[in-house]
Amino acid sequence: MTAKIIDGKAIAEEVRAGVKTAVAERVKAGKQVPGLATVLVGDNPASQVYVRSKRKACAEVGIESFGFELPATATQQEVEDLVKKLNADPKIHGILVQLPLPSHLDDQAVLGAISIEKDVDGFHPLNIGRLAMKGRDPLFVPCTPAGAMVMLEKTLPKLEGVNAVVLGRSNIVGMPVALLLVRANATVTICHSRSKDLPAICREADVLIAAVGRPEMVKRDWVKPGAVVIDVGINRIDDPSAPKGSRLVGDVAYDEVAEVAGAITPVPGGVGPMTIAMLMQNTLRGAELADR
Ligand code: NDP
Repeated sequence: MTAKIIDGKAIAEEVRAGVKTAVAERVKAGKQVPGLATVLVGDNPASQVYVRSKRKACAEVGIESFGFELPATATQQEVEDLVKKLNADPKIHGILVQLPLPSHLDDQAVLGAISIEKDVDGFHPLNIGRLAMKGRDPLFVPCTPAGAMVMLEKTLPKLEGVNAVVLGRSNIVGMPVALLLVRANATVTICHSRSKDLPAICREADVLIAAVGRPEMVKRDWVKPGAVVIDVGINRIDDPSAPKGSRLVGDVAYDEVAEVAGAITPVPGGVGPMTIAMLMQNTLRGAELADR
């Protein structure tokens, strides 16, 4: 068997095009342009790149972005004061605090200071709590898990009763994706670093989501023939033959797993492009919430 490749770039493009159309329609109807505030603390080069690409994506879909930069020496109070100011600004419908924050700052306190109506990253404990509760809905779902679900649902529209295994239980990927799968009525097993016999657990999966940050950990014989494999991992490994001397791989050994899986996301070009697309969608939603 050779797996169908789930094209994250193409699906992300569809999501962005939908957001662009909806933003243009809002503007035509005289409603506010959605606004995203990005908060960057310190000078971590990777964070600078992420914030730049998020602001570029905003410009492409017609969302206004407002960049705020604080020095690496900023105090907890200064960061939280900025967040409170943005909470009160009616032009801003989404607040994105780029993680990781410098180590002297309490990131949970900063994320908790964001108004849940503007929590476009979906990391506020109230939004995560609502995601876990029956009969309650979060205002926003974290972008990477939401993107993984869009890809999965396009590939396997009926998730009811399927066996899903999630590798990883982090606050930003593993746990929210597992909660989303439960909401979709899948039967979910969550694995982590203390789980025993991962290959045997994974082999039971109709849907396997890998979010561990371990390069190419999931091997061919871990995967049930025909399973849908969503690889969230992004890992840089040395490769002297690559132009940069390194390349990106996922948490799944792509070439060998693609021989048994029914469908698989590549890395790069899989879940990665979906994250920013879902951020655009969440910011649009923030503006729609403010209309009410
Ligand atoms: P974390 O390091 O926060 O969490 C990793 C999880 O994997 C933990 O729950 C950990 O278990 C578990 N784990 C680690 N090693 C093993 C192992 N050997 N066996 C079983 N479980 C293990 O990572 P994130 O969730 O933030 O990210 C996961 C991956 O997704 C990374 O590669 C990251 O780069 C990528 N990522 C991609 C994004 C995208 O846009 N596509 C966005 C965010 C992340 P325990 O809890 O016991 O420690």
